[in-house]
Amino acid sequence: IYKKLETIMHCPICFNMPEASIFLCKNGHPVCDNCYEQVRQNDCPVCKFPFYGTRNFLAEDIIQIIPFLCSDVQNNSVVPLQSSVENKTDSTLPIKEKIIPPRYCSGNFPCQLRSCLKELCAGRMLPHIRYHHSSMLNEVINSGRKYKEVWQLDYENDKSYETAIQISNMGLFFFLAKIDTRGYLRSVVLMLASDEVASDFSYKIKISDTSGCRTLSYKNKVLSCRENPVMDQSDDRCFEACCRDMSKICVNDNNFNCTLVIEILDSYFLLP
Ligand SMILES: [Zn+2]
Ligand SMILES: [Zn+2]
Ligand SMILES: [Zn+2]
Repeated sequence: IYKKLETIMHCPICFNMPEASIFLCKNGHPVCDNCYEQVRQNDCPVCKFPFYGTRNFLAEDIIQIIPFLCSDVQNNSVVPLQSSVENKTDSTLPIKEKIIPPRYCSGNFPCQLRSCLKELCAGRMLPHIRYHHSSMLNEVINSGRKYKEVWQLDYENDKSYETAIQISNMGLFFFLAKIDTRGYLRSVVLMLASDEVASDFSYKIKISDTSGCRTLSYKNKVLSCRENPVMDQSDDRCFEACCRDMSKICVNDNNFNCTLVIEILDSYFLLP
């Protein structure tokens, strides 16, 4: 059946499987988004009728779940983050209000994993990540206003850690951490949402040695994933720990604990 789908779904111009958008001519003939750029000025290669920018969302959703389209770029320096600690709901926190997930944000957002940067609308990002970056996805059932995760990470130059976290009552977040070639650690939390929606969330990153004696922490509002912060150089939107600070934390061994807390701010509950 996959082979059959493959022959049905391929683009009639380049014969490749479309990867993102599929456009239809006035009579419904499909072309992939790469070829659309070339044919949009002209007419459909099959029937000569024009294109009006109509898309085939049903076919686009189908290609996201077909397993022959494995375009995950192999990049050994990027390590998917696996949950090291079972995520438990903070039971000390009284749940006063039932938290409704944030409102849907329109427009496209870039996928922040493996430098993919594929632009997708909010509703299509989770299927994309489930299919293309499944090893980098954590899906968590959460209640209450806090989400907490602890990872033990290696302190090695030129290493990246990336994960997408789908939190049931908050939305989809990207946690990115990078140790550059000079040993600087930079980290940020981005959300699949507009700046306005993302700013109702804060995150805290705590870096500590494995015994928990020495710590560095940072707190900021969550950024929209449209921000695309640079992780290779200082960026005031990101957490940064210089190599001297990192060497104090990783004094005995080459790893450190990284605690991430994402929290819903009071502003989230205010009526707009
Ligand atoms: Zn094509
Ligand atoms: Zn046509
Ligand atoms: Zn992607």
